[in-house]
Amino acid sequence: MIKVVKFGGSSLASAGQFSKVGDIIRSDKHRRYVVPSAPGKRNDKDTKVTDMLYDCYETAEEEGDFKIKLKKIKDRYNSIINGLHLKLSLEEEFNIIAANFAAKAGKDYAASRGEYLNGIIMANYLGFDFIDAAQVIRFDEQGEFDADTTNSILKERLKQSEYAVIPGFYGAKEDGTVVTFSRGGSDITGSIVAKACRADMYENWTDVSGFLVADPRIIKNPKAIKVITYRELRELSYMGATVLHEDAVFPVRKAGIPINIRNTNAPEDEGTLIVENTCQPSLYTITGVAGKKGFVAVNVEKDMMNTEIGFGRKVLEAFEMHGISFEHMPSGIDTMTVFVHQEEFAGKEQQVLSSIHRLAEPDVIDLDGDLALIAVVGRGMKSTRGTAGRIFSALSHANVNVKMIDQGSSELNIIIGVANNDFDNAIKAIYDIFVETQL
Ligand code: ASP
Repeated sequence: MIKVVKFGGSSLASAGQFSKVGDIIRSDKHRRYVVPSAPGKRNDKDTKVTDMLYDCYETAEEEGDFKIKLKKIKDRYNSIINGLHLKLSLEEEFNIIAANFAAKAGKDYAASRGEYLNGIIMANYLGFDFIDAAQVIRFDEQGEFDADTTNSILKERLKQSEYAVIPGFYGAKEDGTVVTFSRGGSDITGSIVAKACRADMYENWTDVSGFLVADPRIIKNPKAIKVITYRELRELSYMGATVLHEDAVFPVRKAGIPINIRNTNAPEDEGTLIVENTCQPSLYTITGVAGKKGFVAVNVEKDMMNTEIGFGRKVLEAFEMHGISFEHMPSGIDTMTVFVHQEEFAGKEQQVLSSIHRLAEPDVIDLDGDLALIAVVGRGMKSTRGTAGRIFSALSHANVNVKMIDQGSSELNIIIGVANNDFDNAIKAIYDIFVETQL
């Protein structure tokens, strides 16, 4: 059995956190490949090493005195090394980094050093091999991740190491230029490594015990989700983004490898298991409820819209022309409504409206702003009668006016639009009816 274990920044922020991680890895010999992030925040006022590196490099680029900032970063690593009583010096590494910063080696190179150095410490601490991600994670000339080349290089390289540390977040082009994934990208590296070694499990260790049925800022002590499918997670992406990078799903999902979200500070918790499919029913009819504020509904009306071929395309073209993506698109016989992010839309509002008028010649366009969208998601909804009924009666009891309803034909989710002001109440009402009352 092979497990790939990825540890996030808060799990590796200090020597104390490192030793928790060491205990976790040593307690299971199947945990063979370790993917570390850069040291994260030790407390609320602290700064992540990645952010320190970006800042330091900016100073180097402006030809300012970046050495003081770099020294602070070195101190963070040295406090980990000393706290773990390791006989390791990063002096030479820091000399190279300083020279490369002075030579303006690039922002991605700068940020990647956070994971690179943490990987060296981790390998030394565990007695594992160190594999520089620049050698095995490949980006193409355009800076896009090259999945196929990476998979073949990495597969071969991992065969040579029974136990190894591969730093997260970065890789390199064929010529050696370092490229990073987007922020939080160590999750993606973990997934790529899991795929390459055909792991049985990808454990993603962070500072929460997995996904929760609802946002803890709205619901006090919400229940945890034990098992969730990849599709459910995608539908709940409003809540998932902070726990797991969205792109981390693809490599393992294709390879049929489950992801287990675990908590470094509570290793006895089972966490959440993310799987392709399961016959395990979820504990409640719904798996989770999540949402987001800040949407605008653009209602486009035209008599006989249903018979006009290409009407929908013309309306959507107006959004596309101005680089605006849409979130949902419920429709009626003579209306279609396009939900867009208010922030993205606000600055281009009049241009988009005039494009819709020009392209689709509608009778009326109506705008409804300050809306929130809520996704109620659950594989259990398909086989349960009356789910929608229960949601709407709960919302009406909570005095929440429902502005839009959209149920996907997969019956995996129901999307509800409410006013921003009703958002918290709506989430509470839905959580109560399905989880608190155990229906
Ligand atoms: N250290 C990087 C970041 O802060 C990547 C990661 O932690 O996954 O975004």
